[in-house]
Amino acid sequence: MKLADNQIINQKLHELFEKYSIDKDEKKLQSQNYMDAVKDLIALCGDDPNRQGLEETPFRVLKAHLEYTEGYREDPREHLRKFFDVDHNELVVVKDIEFYSLCEHHFAPFFGVAHVGYIPNGKITGLSKIGRMVDGYAKRFQVQERLTNQIASAMDEVLTPLGVMVVVEGKHMCMCGRGIKKKDSTTTTTASKGLFTDNPELRKEFLSLLDR
Ligand SMILES: [Zn+2]
Repeated sequence: MKLADNQIINQKLHELFEKYSIDKDEKKLQSQNYMDAVKDLIALCGDDPNRQGLEETPFRVLKAHLEYTEGYREDPREHLRKFFDVDHNELVVVKDIEFYSLCEHHFAPFFGVAHVGYIPNGKITGLSKIGRMVDGYAKRFQVQERLTNQIASAMDEVLTPLGVMVVVEGKHMCMCGRGIKKKDSTTTTTASKGLFTDNPELRKEFLSLLDR
């Protein structure tokens, strides 16, 4: 495929934006500009954007970034709306929810696990639903602090639990691969609502369940 071959590109873009209900033409125009910019970036970095291995890269990068940011095209809270009524008001903990995100400062991947603890107030949701909600927020241009808060807020808004606490552990490629090169450093962020904000015992109980 040659980038100059507009018919092929047009067809590919058409397929890519088929599921978009609005702004298809604008998305296609932005895509063309973006792919040109990726070509420029390749040249700027010192390689030949027209050599065989790199020829299709601008399109692949475009497609990959649309996948990494799929979360913008959904409301992650919707996943939680499939809840069940229960008579359970003890701590529920969902551990090790894997996520994969993109740091908004460098467009570098950051990834790791999220742990969610909550005390239901009559409503619980399926474990996989929490995972999908986390995914919906992770697949955006993010900072880990905001991701952590958004997960806690979604739980709080939809399930109105007595309390919720979220711990996110992430490895940031922008820290690992460049500059300070701390390849094993992990960033931990927390967010809490309701009972967890002012009950040290409860926080301790949750955190102790995360110990491995
Ligand atoms: Zn970064």
